[in-house]
Amino acid sequence: MQQPLIQDNRTGQPQQGVGLDPIVIAGGGFGGLYTALALAEQPGHPPLVLVEPNDHFLFLPLLYELLSGELRRWQIAPGYQSLLAGKGIGWLRDKVDRIDTNSRQVHTGQGHTLTYSRLVLATGAGSDDFGVPGVREHALGFRTLADVDRLQAVVRILREGSLTGQRLAIVGGGPSGVELACKLADMLGDRAGIELIEQGPSLLNGSRAFNREQGLLALQRRGVRIRCGTRVLAVHGGYLELVPGGEGPEGPTPETLAVAAVIWAAGLRCQPPALLPAPACDNRGRLLCGPDLRLQDHADIFVVGDLGAIQGAPGTDPEDPVPATPTTAQVAFQEAPVIAANIGHSLVGEPLENFAWKDLGEMLSLGLGEASLTGAGFTLAGPGAYQLRRLAYLARLPGLPLQIRVVAGWLAGNDGPKIQS
Ligand SMILES: Cc1cc2nc3c(=O)[nH]c(=O)nc-3n(C[C@H](O)[C@H](O)[C@H](O)COP(=O)(O)OP(=O)(O)OC[C@H]3O[C@@H](n4cnc5c(N)ncnc54)[C@H](O)[C@@H]3O)c2cc1C
Repeated sequence: MQQPLIQDNRTGQPQQGVGLDPIVIAGGGFGGLYTALALAEQPGHPPLVLVEPNDHFLFLPLLYELLSGELRRWQIAPGYQSLLAGKGIGWLRDKVDRIDTNSRQVHTGQGHTLTYSRLVLATGAGSDDFGVPGVREHALGFRTLADVDRLQAVVRILREGSLTGQRLAIVGGGPSGVELACKLADMLGDRAGIELIEQGPSLLNGSRAFNREQGLLALQRRGVRIRCGTRVLAVHGGYLELVPGGEGPEGPTPETLAVAAVIWAAGLRCQPPALLPAPACDNRGRLLCGPDLRLQDHADIFVVGDLGAIQGAPGTDPEDPVPATPTTAQVAFQEAPVIAANIGHSLVGEPLENFAWKDLGEMLSLGLGEASLTGAGFTLAGPGAYQLRRLAYLARLPGLPLQIRVVAGWLAGNDGPKIQS
């Protein structure tokens, strides 16, 4: 199948070529969507085509609030149809399968072929099971609306069940694991215990000291059992095999832990569409790109968000050439306008800008109606931080109409803390 008919969301007509092949954006998450929106602002841009299999954008940092019922689905998962209406961005609901960089062609799962003038790779990351047996079959994830549905069903069963001494295990003691543990503990009350399992020596290793402290206090207040230095060997239906921390004289002894469910929140791995020829990537599958966010050795391909590992940024340690730009929405959000500008520069032969990440701070959701935040010399925890976190994310929701509708919902008091049952 050849170039599909792509509707222009501004005119409702098929997109007209303006001399150049389209700019194709693969993936409509934080990086892809905001890059497409920034490109649409540039006068005289080539046609824009977003290829994304889901029918909705997902504002992942607020997924915990969807789980708990503090926010609603339409607030954090607006449909692409309405988000892109009138923006002049064509949307192909499909998955990019394969990219031939020599012929500049994108091949999709439904058999379409798109020839691009510039390509933006924005397919993000998924969770990494580190090869632990049983994770795919038996553990729940926490990245999609379907994951939220499944977890809410588990919570309902635990809340309605007559069994006592039930346990939920969360594997991974980074922000996601800690935020989930706090929300679930508040949702479940005394209906189930929560075990937070982390292989490293401590929780929230990459977080700021204030947030780490607040996270630990929040877990302690909720009676979450913390197991650091504990390695999960396998996940089975109904139990986990693990090696606890603190070795005895005969070395660590594997244990089993009976659980109602396991939520896997440990690690990220990128699985981008197949690129031919295969580009260089780091040990997490992230594609190596230059400080101007172009894929290494490719002048017409840009990488945004979790999928990219920036190399050779000014000040980079030559011993450690891939600097640790965090895999966060904040980074993707900042990269998007730089990529849009650089695509514009590259189309007219101007020099490209280098990306410089500005650390705007860090926010954690810590249970119903509570949060912790730190940044720019400012720290706050508790209900005030919860409200500020919501406001900060409101400013980043895509498009003014959605922002207005969400604020109206808050002002009408429709979205106070509540427990989904
Ligand atoms: C539960 C959770 C909470 C988080 N909280 C925070 C937070 O508080 N603050 C923060 O800064 N960051 C947070 N993050 C991280 C943040 O969401 C990511 O860093 C950010 O979404 C990365 O943007 P991205 O565009 O690279 O990827 P994504 O947003 O994951 O988007 C990737 C998109 O690509 C699409 N896609 C995948 N494969 C293909 C394909 N082959 N073809 C076409 N499309 C494809 C996917 O459907 C998806 O829409 C959180 C993440 C999670 C999971």
